[in-house]
Amino acid sequence: MITPAPDDRSVTIVGAGLAGAQTCAELRRCGFTGRITLVGDEPDPPYDRPPLSKGAVGEDTGDLGFDFEALEVDFRPDATAVGLAGASIEADQPLRVMVAEGQPAAADAVVVASGAAPIVPATWQLTDRVRVLRSRRDAIALHEMLSAGTVSSLLVVGGSWIGLEVGSLAAASGIDVTVVERAAWLLPQLPPEVGRRVHGWCGAAGIDVVLGLPVDGVGDRAVAPEVDGTPVWVEVGDSRMSADAVLIALGVRPNTGWLQESGLPLVPGTGALRVDQWMTTADPRVFGVGDAVARWSPKYSKLLPGGHWQDAMDAPTVAAKSVLAALESTAPRPDPYDAVPYFWSEMFGHMLQWTGYLSDYRAARLVVREADDAAGWTMCWLDDRDRLCALLACDRPRDAVAARKAQAAAENGAPWADVEALADPQRPLKSCLTAARGE
Ligand SMILES: Cc1cc2nc3c(=O)[nH]c(=O)nc-3n(C[C@H](O)[C@H](O)[C@H](O)COP(=O)(O)OP(=O)(O)OC[C@H]3O[C@@H](n4cnc5c(N)ncnc54)[C@H](O)[C@@H]3O)c2cc1C
Repeated sequence: MITPAPDDRSVTIVGAGLAGAQTCAELRRCGFTGRITLVGDEPDPPYDRPPLSKGAVGEDTGDLGFDFEALEVDFRPDATAVGLAGASIEADQPLRVMVAEGQPAAADAVVVASGAAPIVPATWQLTDRVRVLRSRRDAIALHEMLSAGTVSSLLVVGGSWIGLEVGSLAAASGIDVTVVERAAWLLPQLPPEVGRRVHGWCGAAGIDVVLGLPVDGVGDRAVAPEVDGTPVWVEVGDSRMSADAVLIALGVRPNTGWLQESGLPLVPGTGALRVDQWMTTADPRVFGVGDAVARWSPKYSKLLPGGHWQDAMDAPTVAAKSVLAALESTAPRPDPYDAVPYFWSEMFGHMLQWTGYLSDYRAARLVVREADDAAGWTMCWLDDRDRLCALLACDRPRDAVAARKAQAAAENGAPWADVEALADPQRPLKSCLTAARGE
């Protein structure tokens, strides 16, 4: 039961994932007493996605546990936003969120938190045996398929995070896994040295890796019965690779189709909603958080894509304060959000943690921290002035924590490194970095 809010200002948040739910909670934490409407197109209350590709699957997996009644949030599940009217730089028209089969919701401010969806080429058809993984329902269906005993081989199209995490789990459960990746190495968004290590893990787990081959199409005999052979296949040039099931894991695209006519600037190519360091769009009453957005980073002078949990978790604090500043002339503008990019992954029994930003690995110097007698290693990428731009820690969480802290403290996100000390895996990383030379 929603009790009436003591003031009549209203905020509508589109997308009931981590970023949307966090924004609701942060608005209340900042003292916002107006109406909050949370529009989400899934039937479930907000849940966390990372566990879904790491072996945890079930109706309650990752429940985020937001109490919308206590927060006095009007949560509307199964409701899809299909458009946003009134957005403009002048901010002189009322904002309205159009909802499929519902009345448009007028709002004084709108927060876009509609996340991202798996990329599936238009001619590829998803079926019972050709699947993607984004939602809890996807995870349950994928798990049921892989554990039913009817799938003994899995083709993973795309050798990046989700594909490799699922591939590593499937291989561990005895399924023959083949990963097909268009690029020349696995995890192609990272430098090739990382992909080579992960390739080694795949080999040890019995996974076949096919590199440098773009998949042109995917087929399922259930929808193309004239084709003989195993149930599903992928087309690679003139040839076919067959298996019992396919996972399409080509990355994600921001869910911003519903903003296409809004006039708000979307990033060409990715379609991400462009926000500044206050998570504000071109219309000062419209904000964006999480996977749906690309945020301007003064630290790196770059527009950084979303796509990782940490941003979805942390940026809503600033977005909520920005909403308040837009609605209340007395509310101060918050400090900008300019976090150092951070994400993690778990695969083949290893924990990988990335921190920092690397514009071109070819121009960076790589230092590897690795002891002969330990399984973990850390790759550090330095610029030409010996500053630590980015780091990937494998089973060395202390390195990741120390680098993150030092990067956050350095003005441009790249603390100075004592290269000789850095190369010694026994030296605490903290003692190898300084925010400014001479400190
Ligand atoms: C399987 C999996 C594993 C992951 N593992 C990791 C990891 O290990 N480490 C890491 O850093 N990150 C990981 N991520 C990424 C991380 O989960 C995301 O960055 C995070 O979920 C983003 O949160 P979000 O709220 O922005 O978007 P989402 O979680 O996508 O939530 C957006 C919500 O908005 C809904 N929506 C979309 N369009 C509309 C509309 N028009 N109207 C209403 N609702 C709409 C969507 O259905 C969804 O419910 C993983 C993601 C997945 C899928």
